[in-house]
Amino acid sequence: MDVDHPSPRVGGGSGGDPPRIRRLEESVVNRIAAGEVIQRPSSAVKELVENSLDAGASTVSVTVKDGGLKLIQVSDDGHGIRFEDLPILCERHTTSKLSAYEDLQTIKSMGFRGEALASMTYVGHVTVTTITEGQLHGYRVCYKDGVMENEPKPCAAVKGTQVMVENLFYNMVARRKTLQNSNDDYPKIVDFISRFAVHHINVNFSCRKHGANRADVHSSSTSSRLDAIRNIYGASVVRDLIEIEVSDEDAGDAVFKMDGYISNANYVAKKITMILFINDRLVDCTALKRAIEFVYSATLPQASKPFIYMSINLPSEHVDVNIHPTKKEVSLLNQERIIETIKNTIEEKLRNSNTTRIFQTQLQAVNSSAFTQVCTQKDKGTDVKMASGMKSQKTPVSQMVRTDPRNPSGRLHTYWHGQSSNLEKKSDLVSVRNVVRSRRNPKDAGDLSSRHELLMEIDSHCHPGLLEVIKNCTYVGLADEVLALIQCNTHLYLVNVVNVSKELMYQQALRRFGNFNAIQLSEPAPLQELLLMALKDDELIGDENDEEKLEIAEVNSKILKENSEMINEYFSIHVDQDGNLTRLPVVLDQYTPDMDRLPEFVLTMGNDVTWDDEKECFRTAAAAVGNFYALHPPILPNPSGSGIQLYKKNKDCMASGEHFDSTDEDDIDHELLAEAETAWSQREWTIQHVLFPSMRLFLKPPKSMATDGTFVQIASLEKLYKIFERC
Ligand code: ADP
Ligand code: MG
Repeated sequence: MDVDHPSPRVGGGSGGDPPRIRRLEESVVNRIAAGEVIQRPSSAVKELVENSLDAGASTVSVTVKDGGLKLIQVSDDGHGIRFEDLPILCERHTTSKLSAYEDLQTIKSMGFRGEALASMTYVGHVTVTTITEGQLHGYRVCYKDGVMENEPKPCAAVKGTQVMVENLFYNMVARRKTLQNSNDDYPKIVDFISRFAVHHINVNFSCRKHGANRADVHSSSTSSRLDAIRNIYGASVVRDLIEIEVSDEDAGDAVFKMDGYISNANYVAKKITMILFINDRLVDCTALKRAIEFVYSATLPQASKPFIYMSINLPSEHVDVNIHPTKKEVSLLNQERIIETIKNTIEEKLRNSNTTRIFQTQLQAVNSSAFTQVCTQKDKGTDVKMASGMKSQKTPVSQMVRTDPRNPSGRLHTYWHGQSSNLEKKSDLVSVRNVVRSRRNPKDAGDLSSRHELLMEIDSHCHPGLLEVIKNCTYVGLADEVLALIQCNTHLYLVNVVNVSKELMYQQALRRFGNFNAIQLSEPAPLQELLLMALKDDELIGDENDEEKLEIAEVNSKILKENSEMINEYFSIHVDQDGNLTRLPVVLDQYTPDMDRLPEFVLTMGNDVTWDDEKECFRTAAAAVGNFYALHPPILPNPSGSGIQLYKKNKDCMASGEHFDSTDEDDIDHELLAEAETAWSQREWTIQHVLFPSMRLFLKPPKSMATDGTFVQIASLEKLYKIFERC
């Protein structure tokens, strides 16, 4: 039977005719649309509360039963709804807030689509009770599928409007089931009301479960934002908040104002709380949230899940409010520039408030003995270098790449197996106490000024032009194994990924200094073995000189052990008492260095770090970290193109027995090939999604990068156009 003949679809008529197109019934259209606007009970609550705020309410009370599936009731004391508007109140696209499309540009109300109430009547039973000013009684009316079910009945009513939605999604079985199975929506509803209460400080909000005496949110109008936050989120949150404000009046199209509160280094939470209002609309802005998260994890890694309340105001014609059916997101003119300004403001605030904290913690915790040890180590350290004749430069990348992938010896994962697990010994309490005591004298805090000097050097060496390029560039792709192509305005540049990532990691190591999160190694790794592994490839010593290698490894591991308290304290590189490496620092979030380079790193730490001068010690150690964490090409050769030849198995073994006539395809070591492919594609992903976004936020490119080939401008579009014009 032939394959490629598609069989006619159901309803498509005979002989493969295309299916007929029909107009959907309006009720079907409306129900589909309603499912989009009212996605879950909490979205209904948000719409109803926004209607109350649009009606100028100063009190809004919410009652919820069964997570909103059984009942949602929102009562307000706003202006109410006219009697004559009740018949069309719940029809789709009926609104009092917008009349012409152009009004959207200047709209101040939260609603404008006239869809929310209508949608609720398609997926639930809606009853509205309302009274307008000056009336003796109010009216109550029920709605179904957009229309009134009965004439409005006169009834007693207090000022304002009450909307009741019962049996939400009664006619959408699947949605109701999913919602019933998933967690109750009530916490989400409480969360929404809490956010509104923080922003609209002159409105009294309450939110309770049906039948409960106590409200879960209860705010009374106040003139102070901090009081509102204290009332909702508690005094402990308010204690750790810093006020923040920025306005960019001269920014042309990016003009805006922002004010709010952000948490400081003492606020520690499991997840970020971000309350964002743009032109008084409660919205999400993923790009802004990410940028803020990045800043926090770089500046305050211990407090990297902040509390943020932020209100941004910009001319209404710069905000497109109509990009999302539930108006959950808005789009801003010149969003990047606004985010950048806010990000810089936060970074500066945190850095200023952070200095004091780091200073205090380190005063108490730093190990003074580390530096006395450094001095005694000094001579030995130099001796080692001279005796071994080792270059102080790290092994060049080209030498690190094994040319024979069939023998991955020295690759770390092969080594990891079979290591017995060594439990780290607890440090001696008495010596720790002594350290703390001896360190209390503030005069000993010279270590901090060294680090500050290094950070200042980064700032003063920064190339402003390159900084602009990095901040505004778009990543195009990788041109080869180390060069990436980026575009900035009309210029194209080639960027050396290894150099920039090395510098970025170096700078981050100094910024996070003393404040790293840790990567725990699954097995403690003996320094001695790592060092021997690194020395194995060292051509200068040669293969015969095993004894010399052993000696170098011993001396280096001793140096590291002796300085272990200091490198642990400052760089979170933890060596236990048995000389095993157990922890490494998180230099950039969501990024782990290539563990194949761990032996080389340990050797660099032992051999290339200057231990006898504090500032140099920090600089060289941060440089070693930078080099290890940089995005070098993976050690397994790139299998793309002709690189695949390197993954051929040894012909000699294959030629034996029945494998004699194996095809080319079978000669490939698929396991190793797959590993190499993963390593290369992961690196490419990381370059695009981790390295470049982080560079945009944190890298201060040194001037040298403009001339040493790290950044090379290869084309400018203006010139290209000129060439084309001539053709
Ligand atoms: P929108 O808010 O987009 O206009 P809705 O379907 O949410 O659409 O509401 C339709 C109209 O009903 C509103 O424009 C408003 O005039 C009126 N309305 C809804 N809720 C209230 C309320 N709580 N108080 C006064 N008027 C209301
Ligand atoms: Mg509305």
